[in-house]
Amino acid sequence: MTHLSGKCLCGNVSFSADTDIKLMANCHCSDCRAATGAAYGTLLFVEADALQVTGSPKVFKHTADSGADMEKHFCPDCGSQLFGKNSNRANMVSVRAGVVEQTDLIKPAVNVYMSSKIPSTPVDPELKGFDKMPG
Ligand SMILES: [Zn+2]
Ligand SMILES: [Zn+2]
Repeated sequence: MTHLSGKCLCGNVSFSADTDIKLMANCHCSDCRAATGAAYGTLLFVEADALQVTGSPKVFKHTADSGADMEKHFCPDCGSQLFGKNSNRANMVSVRAGVVEQTDLIKPAVNVYMSSKIPSTPVDPELKGFDKMPG
């Protein structure tokens, strides 16, 4: 069991969770790159029920290349990306590592969507890499 907390840039949306982190991944997909404006997104996957949100994030819905219905939850005031949902993993929520206060916990285990990464992005050779999202 791990305690996670964090907030967006302006502080109008905050969250906390006491939960196990199921998976931590660096995602190099073009959706994460566009949503965050960063070279890749680092995601922590936790059980959706464990996440307590304060404030009212706006939700953007789109369809992934897998056909899954995706949601991006972001602060309507400052634009910070906080959470994501994927209809293929309905009971899970992904939290963007950049908004997590417990930075010592951020240890991605894998790189996913390596097929769409920016060529110059440095990659830890110790981590397993996947072309897409492993099943
Ligand atoms: Zn905000
Ligand atoms: Zn992604």
